[in-house]
Amino acid sequence: MEFFDVWKAYDGIQALQGLCLEVRRGEIFGLIGPNGAGKTTALKIIVGLLKMDKGFVRVNGYDITEEPYEYKRFIGYVPEAISLPEYLTVEEFLIYSGMIRGVEKERIRGCLEDYLRIFSLEDRRRSLILTLSRGMRQKTAIASALIHDPDLLILDEPFIGIDPEGQHRIKELFVERVKEGRAVLVSTHMLDTAERLCDRISVIHRGKNVASGDMEGLRRLSERGEGATLEEVFLKLTEEASKPYEGEEPSIKRGSRFPWLFGRRGT
Ligand code: ATP
Repeated sequence: MEFFDVWKAYDGIQALQGLCLEVRRGEIFGLIGPNGAGKTTALKIIVGLLKMDKGFVRVNGYDITEEPYEYKRFIGYVPEAISLPEYLTVEEFLIYSGMIRGVEKERIRGCLEDYLRIFSLEDRRRSLILTLSRGMRQKTAIASALIHDPDLLILDEPFIGIDPEGQHRIKELFVERVKEGRAVLVSTHMLDTAERLCDRISVIHRGKNVASGDMEGLRRLSERGEGATLEEVFLKLTEEASKPYEGEEPSIKRGSRFPWLFGRRGT
């Protein structure tokens, strides 16, 4: 997935300012940034829920503006605020998700059993979604995003509300998928999880790239020592990005002491 020089403004708010990301097959890619940095906006553009003002996004070779439908079979999406049909049972919803994605019945059955087991939802398969706990709903949403076996799974804060065992299983699932050549793009504020889980990470701030790379690369760019945690690296990079240049008033347009990193294509 290539996300190149993407700009997006809401009424008077410039949410993305030339953001660039690249997610490769076989990797778990983390998107991190302070509140309002533009993470959700970027993900919504990739999945077609928002239109960008400028830039281009390509998924599996499809330009998403030119061919807005074809690429969707390659992606699965779990939004930050999930909204599921409450009067379907878990099983009905997952079958429905598979059917609207054109998955064969046999395959849906197989996946359904797998995901109910992985997410410990077997005994809730006939429960109405209305009656599920928050974490169970989140697990159901993740299973639904996986039912058509997408090449690129996109998740916005997926771990919130999920118990430790569930989180562990989901991480295992991500690792398995990328080993098979698929990709996972995850936006999160859980920096310790991102540090352990992600192969590469992009730090974004005010709609721009501050830095992209693996942990070693981010440590180098932030000039933190060898053993620095992602939290330390993140705080340094975002603090630097907030500083104005000497002799200038703070400005959202400039706003970085790492200008050579801005506008660069994901590494
Ligand atoms: P968070 O970590 O808080 O979830 P985020 O990085 O996901 O933040 P976005 O939700 O993409 O950030 O928001 C980026 C900017 O766009 C923010 O300034 C936000 O206020 C603004 N914004 C987002 N959605 C809308 C909207 N529907 N209308 C107007 N402004 C919006």
